Amino acid sequence: SKNTLIIGAGGVGNVVAFKCAMNADTFGNITLASRTLSKCDAIAANVKEKTGVEIQTRAVDADSIPELKELIAATGASIVINVALPYQDLTIMDACEEMQVDYLDTANYEHPDTAKFEYKEQWARDEEFRKANIMGLLGSGFDPGATNVFCAYAQKHYFDEIHTIDILDCNAGDHGYPFATNFNPEINLREVSAKGRYWENGEWIETEPMEIMQVWDYPEVGPKDSYLLYHEEMESLVKHIKGLKRIRFFMTFGQSYLTHMKCLENVGMLGIKEVEHKGMKIVPMEFLSTLLPDPASLGPRTKGKTNIGIFAKGLKDGKERSIYIYQVSDHEECYAEVMSQGVSYTTGVPAMIGAKLMLEGKWEGKGVFNLEQLDPDPFMEEMNKQGLPWKVMELGEDETRIVE
Ligand code: NDP
Repeated sequence: SKNTLIIGAGGVGNVVAFKCAMNADTFGNITLASRTLSKCDAIAANVKEKTGVEIQTRAVDADSIPELKELIAATGASIVINVALPYQDLTIMDACEEMQVDYLDTANYEHPDTAKFEYKEQWARDEEFRKANIMGLLGSGFDPGATNVFCAYAQKHYFDEIHTIDILDCNAGDHGYPFATNFNPEINLREVSAKGRYWENGEWIETEPMEIMQVWDYPEVGPKDSYLLYHEEMESLVKHIKGLKRIRFFMTFGQSYLTHMKCLENVGMLGIKEVEHKGMKIVPMEFLSTLLPDPASLGPRTKGKTNIGIFAKGLKDGKERSIYIYQVSDHEECYAEVMSQGVSYTTGVPAMIGAKLMLEGKWEGKGVFNLEQLDPDPFMEEMNKQGLPWKVMELGEDETRIVE
């Protein structure tokens, strides 16, 4: 039988643990391991109470390959679901390769000191993964993740050729704090304070941070200010979606969030280099994370909806076509089901689905893969069953969802 090892007991790890337990026939014995054992135990207790399923817990330092190997051996895992931080991707991948077990993550590797995210080092492990006869699934969250699958689904069922894709990530949730981040503050703030970038006619075009804003009208949410950011799924999509002429990514932010961020940035609080403070070395961004509300604590207080999707334009049978494939989640409903708000929910469910398809052999292959390289249909089917129902909106000729 197959067993499952989940690494990382944050907001996303909580959802993955719940969702794997709710599909225990597929996941076998489930172990949740993370740096802080008490966080794993708290999740396991909630899972037991709400689902009746017992999961095991372990402490692990996922920066240490020997510790990881020992853990993989002890749990007899057939798959490792990595929902720790992007800094741990490479050590966990290497441990999986040495132990010959499948690997899945939700975010691409970042070096703690450089704030640069790209697939290069993970793709470079393709050869070793093939040799080890294992599969690595990269970026199986919502975006990256479900958005990549939406693109593959559009390509398979709606278009002969996709010309443009806009990935739209709208979070209309309100947690009532003046300022907080929905997931790990370091990762979140690094992403949004970086320069923007999009791809057009074979080239990457850089923008200043938050330079390009459009107001998109999100079904079931309404119009929201949406800012162009660089986002990692574009790197793989430009390789795999043939005939693409442009791809961009937009995320919604409220004015108050941006004002807070600008202010923190101006005073140096987003810095990722050590500074000396009263004889101690501190990293401003890490200190800021300590001050901000723990993203996990936002769950019980967040209201409102998320809407994430892809807006694609292209040709079908010689005619122009535009569609929006999207998924709407409600923060309070997510919390009621698994005790996490919508952002963790929409990331954790696709992680579980990717792992389920791998364990069931519906998605298979040797080497490392991005989600758009695999058949989108079983993933889309699972989304409908596992709490992420999606819709396709077909737009009329010259109809647009951009308001301004
Ligand atoms: P959290 O910060 O809430 O949780 C991260 C967890 O990883 C914590 O439990 C932390 O332990 C643990 N951890 C960190 N370092 C280590 C280590 N060296 N060894 C063992 N455990 C470690 O983050 P989230 O749950 O919000 O996010 C998890 C992942 O999901 C991130 O990689 C994030 O980028 C990704 N993500 C992807 C999205 C997508 O749509 N694709 C969207 C949102 C997030 P401790 O509790 O001790 O600090």
